Amino acid sequence: MADSGEQRRRRGSVRQRGNSLQVRVFSGVDPVTGKDVYLTETVKGTDRAAEKAAEKVMTRLLSQVDQQRSATSSVAFGYVLDEWLRTAELDEDTRDMYRGYADRNIRPVLGDEPVRKVSTRMLETLYAELRRCRVRCDGKPFIVHRVDGDHDCVKKRCKPHECKPLAASTVRQLHSIMSGALSAAERWEWIDANPARIAKRPKQPQPQPTPPSPSEAAQLVDAAFAMDGEIDDWGTLVWLVMTTGIRRGEVCALKWSRVDLEQGIIEVRSSYVLRKGVGRVKDTKTHQMRRIALDTETTVLLREHKDRSRQRLAELNVKLTDDMYVFSGVRKFDPTQPYSPHAVSSRYKDMAERLGIDTHIHALRHYSATELLAAGIDLRTVAGRLGHGGGGATTLRVYAAWVAASDRKAAEILGSRMSKPKPGQK
Ligand SMILES: [Zn+2]
Ligand SMILES: [Zn+2]
Repeated sequence: MADSGEQRRRRGSVRQRGNSLQVRVFSGVDPVTGKDVYLTETVKGTDRAAEKAAEKVMTRLLSQVDQQRSATSSVAFGYVLDEWLRTAELDEDTRDMYRGYADRNIRPVLGDEPVRKVSTRMLETLYAELRRCRVRCDGKPFIVHRVDGDHDCVKKRCKPHECKPLAASTVRQLHSIMSGALSAAERWEWIDANPARIAKRPKQPQPQPTPPSPSEAAQLVDAAFAMDGEIDDWGTLVWLVMTTGIRRGEVCALKWSRVDLEQGIIEVRSSYVLRKGVGRVKDTKTHQMRRIALDTETTVLLREHKDRSRQRLAELNVKLTDDMYVFSGVRKFDPTQPYSPHAVSSRYKDMAERLGIDTHIHALRHYSATELLAAGIDLRTVAGRLGHGGGGATTLRVYAAWVAASDRKAAEILGSRMSKPKPGQK
């Protein structure tokens, strides 16, 4: 149906700007910014011919907008997201995580948008907005109320909103979700091209591991052993994390069946993960399984720890079995239940605070890695112990500074073995 003259005038306008005419056509509301969007074009001159040309431009812009409008009947981006999340080849944890991100950060903004209208600019604007403020406030001050309905803000301690950016890594996650969904839409011929393909996402933040210094690490280990109690061997846990670089979830999920005290090897096959707020032990995929060699001291400590566990169980008339966890929680000795990763973190954090050291348990993993690299152990071996994939690429990215230091050491070894040319010698 053709627009009536009046409608045309409302949707578009021509105004004089100096020596030219500007044509302006309303094309809709931007779903990300909530602002009106106009298509504009300038025609040189202000005479009758220019007016004619401007009219032509307006007709073209209006039909361009109409074309976009007719695309409004195409599927909504929210539907594309649903379809992709339902059918994509993802493991269940990743699917849950992606669904969470989609519901929190994507659907409220672009869910109702026809997928044909989702543009590269829209995506980049959304990323920039989220990097400014994770709730994408409009920049005007407002109070974040802690409860709904009538209440006393002072009593409830409601605070003014402070903009917090969404982490670059999270925005990168959002990008991969939208990119996955949009490229599916492209395959399904709902759109001609995936606008996410060329969209700029935030740079991957440079990881900055901050391992404790050797003297701090020694203090932490000493303090941990001093905390050993009737029912747990906290010192052994901390020691094991330090010498093997094992992840928190991995040490919690470690069972005696994976500890070979004869060979001095632990096998890391599972990890304690949180899914929908509920913790559970998850077996890693076979290709991610790794064996870590233990030094003599660590083997001895684990053997002593096993003997103590056996004794504690004997007092309860229970036999230690292979499917029991190596470390049990601090409240109750029950090696049929894993140590909660949260409890490990907070216990470690408290201990460090008492020593006046600002660190967390994950930094011990960094400590393990950086000490090995600094001692000249090759990248591949260190990557293997840490369970990094990609033949050391991740390790190199995280620990570049330490790799450089050990490389310098290697160069010096070579240099010191060369006989230096004496001056005047040919
Ligand atoms: Zn309030
Ligand atoms: Zn804000």
